[in-house]
Amino acid sequence: MAEIVIKNVAKSFGSFKALHSIDLTISDQEFMVLLGASGCGKTTLLRIVAGLETPTQGEVWIGGRRVDHLPPRERGIAMVFQNYAVFPHLTVFENIAFGLRMKKLPQAEIDGRVTRTAELMHIEQLLKRYSGQLSGGQRQRVAVARALAMEPDVILMDEPLSNLDALLRLEMRAELKGVLAASKTTTIYVTHDQVEAMSLADRISVMNQGRIVQAATPVEVYRNPAARFVGSFIGNPPMNFIPATREGEGRWNVAGITVEGPDAGRERLDFAIRPEDVDIAPGGLKATARVVEPLGAHTLVTTEVNGAMFRAVLDSDIRVSPGDELSLVPKPDRVRWFDPETTAAV
Ligand code: ATP
Repeated sequence: MAEIVIKNVAKSFGSFKALHSIDLTISDQEFMVLLGASGCGKTTLLRIVAGLETPTQGEVWIGGRRVDHLPPRERGIAMVFQNYAVFPHLTVFENIAFGLRMKKLPQAEIDGRVTRTAELMHIEQLLKRYSGQLSGGQRQRVAVARALAMEPDVILMDEPLSNLDALLRLEMRAELKGVLAASKTTTIYVTHDQVEAMSLADRISVMNQGRIVQAATPVEVYRNPAARFVGSFIGNPPMNFIPATREGEGRWNVAGITVEGPDAGRERLDFAIRPEDVDIAPGGLKATARVVEPLGAHTLVTTEVNGAMFRAVLDSDIRVSPGDELSLVPKPDRVRWFDPETTAAV
C-alpha cells in the first residue's frame, strides 16, 4: 500500500510563496497528474514528495509513514525527470541495472528484472548498446525502465515525455499508461500538457499560482470546472464566458436571451459554455462570425457576441463564412455558472 498524503504543505523561496498550504491525498495505485501553467508550483510539489526540496511547513506521508524528514533514497520512490540522467558510457543493461546494483541485489535477480522491464518498454534488443548511441525516445524508455526495475511503490515523473517529438510522445503516452497500470505503482506525473493529463490521469490536480484549484477525474474537471480558471485552462479552445444578469427566479439574461440557471441570491453571475456545446437553432445567442477555421471533423468559428469573443465548434457540414449572423443555442445541460467575484462554480 502506497497512499501518498500531502498535509498542509507550503514552500517559500525567500519572500516568494511558491506553494500555499497544499492538501492532497493520492490513493494506492492511483495515477495523479499535476497540471498547470509554467511556474504554478508543480515541480516544487513533486520535489517535496521526492525529498529533493524541504517544505517550509507541512507533512508528507507515503504508505502510512511520515517521510518529510527522510532523504530521497529512504522514501521508497523512483523518479523520472525531464532531463533524464541516462549514463552515456554505460550500456542500456547497466543503466537499468544501476539502482539494483546499488541495492546489492543478487545477479540473477538483477538479470531477471532488467530483462522483464526492458521487454515491457520494448527495448530488449538494445540492452548491449551504449546509451550514448540511442535516440531521445530510446533513452527515455531506458529512464522509465530503470525506474520500473526498482519495483518502487511510488513513481514520480516530471514531464518525462517533453523531449520527444509529437508522434513518439503519443506512442509513449499509451505505453506508459499500460505499463504503469500493470505495475501497480502509485504515480505522480507533472505536465503542462492538458491532452497528456487527460489521457493518462485517474485524477488531475489543476494548479494555479501555488494552489490546487481542483482535484478530480479528467471528465469532471472538463465538464464541471470548480472555478473559472479551470474552465479556461482545460479545453482547447477554452470555455466561453458571458456576464449574466438576473431576470427572475432561476432565470438569467445572457446577451439578450433567457437561460435557466441557479437562484444564487445574486444579481450577477457568469454564464459559461464549452465551444462544442452550442447548436445552430432559432432563438439563440446572436453571434457574428469573424474567423472560420476548418479542423477536419469540426469547424472552429470565432464569433462576436455582444461585442465579446465567443468560440463555437460546429460540425464541418455546417457552412459558415466570415460576416454571417448565427443563432447559437447553448445545450441546457452543459451550461455552467460562476460567481463573478470569487470565480468559484455556483
Ligand atoms: P514549469 O512547468 O515551468 O517547470 P512549475 O509549475 O513546475 O513550472 P516550479 O518549478 O514548481 O513551477 O516553480 C514554482 C515557482 O517557484 C516559480 O515561480 C519558480 O520561479 C519558483 N522557484 C522554483 N524553485 C526556486 C528556487 N530554488 N529559488 C527561487 N524560486 C524558485
